[in-house]
Amino acid sequence: MFLLDKLEQYAGTDRIALLYQGQAVSYRDLSRQAEAFAAYLLDAFGSDDAPVLIYGHKDLFIPPCMFGAIKAGHSYIPVDTTFPPERVCQILEQAAPCLVVNLSDTELSAAPLIDKNALADILSAYEGRFDGIDRITDDHTVYTLFTSGTTGKPKGVQITAKNIAAFVDGVAPWFDCGLTEGVFLNEISYSFDVSVCALYYALSRGFTLYTVDKQTMNDPKALFVALRESNIDFWVSTPSLAEFCVRSAQFREALLPKAKKFVFCGEVLTKKLAQEMLARFPHAEMINAYGPTEATVLVTAVTINDALCADSRSIPIGYPFSNLRAIIAAPDGTELIDGKEGELLLLGDCVSPGYLRRPDLNERAFFTDTDSGLRGYHTGDLCRRENGLIYYLGRMDGQVKLNGFRVELEDVESNLLRVENIARAAVVPVVEDGKTVALTAFVCLQRADGLSSLARAKKIKTALAAVLPSYMIPRKIVAVDDFPVNTNGKVDKKALSALA
Ligand code: AMP
Repeated sequence: MFLLDKLEQYAGTDRIALLYQGQAVSYRDLSRQAEAFAAYLLDAFGSDDAPVLIYGHKDLFIPPCMFGAIKAGHSYIPVDTTFPPERVCQILEQAAPCLVVNLSDTELSAAPLIDKNALADILSAYEGRFDGIDRITDDHTVYTLFTSGTTGKPKGVQITAKNIAAFVDGVAPWFDCGLTEGVFLNEISYSFDVSVCALYYALSRGFTLYTVDKQTMNDPKALFVALRESNIDFWVSTPSLAEFCVRSAQFREALLPKAKKFVFCGEVLTKKLAQEMLARFPHAEMINAYGPTEATVLVTAVTINDALCADSRSIPIGYPFSNLRAIIAAPDGTELIDGKEGELLLLGDCVSPGYLRRPDLNERAFFTDTDSGLRGYHTGDLCRRENGLIYYLGRMDGQVKLNGFRVELEDVESNLLRVENIARAAVVPVVEDGKTVALTAFVCLQRADGLSSLARAKKIKTALAAVLPSYMIPRKIVAVDDFPVNTNGKVDKKALSALA
């Protein structure tokens, strides 16, 4: 398989593939471990190709488990430890994996399950026992990523080998920085698709992934120590991380003297941040890139310069990659001319075959173009094209980006309704400078609870934490007697936003 061949290019070398907390894994060891895990899966599960669910956070065993799973003809589902066990159960129900690898300290009730110690034993017992047979075809699902769903349960986006190959090809001219080796920042948790840049772009180019975990990310002092030590050549992150970093005067060229490229993606890049980054890293290239998980990581990109920052329009999300079609469409699907606002539709090999076991959602979100036969996806993003550049104007639904995390407001609302004594719930984003910075939930209670606002909010947040990842929990929870309604009789979210 194209991808595995690329990843194997350096398997005969001691070049460092992964660096984490002072520990290094060479390309040779990564390949050996992946093959040992593949041999174990073949022995334990034969021709059963059900997915392997991997629960953990930035553990050095995660990449070999991922690559081992695909070598053995399975797919993998990376689930970060920000997902509480109940959310993991919902994923288990939908995905029916043949095996759960639990690399965390949290207990999961799943079977069969192996923990870190059992995995270490397996990797040494099966070393050198892989048969070397390539079991992956272009249409084989490589990974399924679970993202926020409107029903209150996550939905799984399936990505095939062909999808990843299209991403790696499409992004290559944008990511190329003339290096045949170097250090690539690897801070995005593996359950978010931007991490695919590190796993499939950087590792197929022989880079070293300098891995930073969330504990370090949440501690500014530790983060700056790690960044100074990293000496990275290549940075990919959400703008939120860079915004956090620029609060410190240390964050400039002297801290990362080798940094050649900064790629920002996943949410709006503000002009203020773009200008700040251009000033602090005058010798590096700054790129704004855009893409939904359903079209495999990234589909457009543009190099930011002073002229784009000085323009009266927002920073564009870029030019579509050369191996896909991006059209701005009217509600009836007809393509709109330049300058007109409409939904961005994406067509090409990058588009996912669909959500796992969700034909209802697939029918609405995906399509096949009858003329070209290309697979298409409705992004739900309102955009406009001018002189070949696409500008992002906002969402057409209740999806928001919060610190780069994708959140469906209805997902949070559905889970609030499962909390005891909540009769109705409405969640609105708190927007500052055009960016969602937090969520506020308004709730109507079934009966008076006699609690102070603070105690009630705490109780509700604790209940939500059992079912939702921490980044989806509203910062404020406000109890109201009733919701304002608009002329259609629907909850007036604009009025609630004003209150928030
Ligand atoms: P995800 O699937 O989590 O990558 O989220 C995809 C969504 O994030 C897109 O549909 C956009 O709404 C938003 N998004 C991604 N990249 C950008 C960007 N560069 N600028 C603005 N919004 C973005």
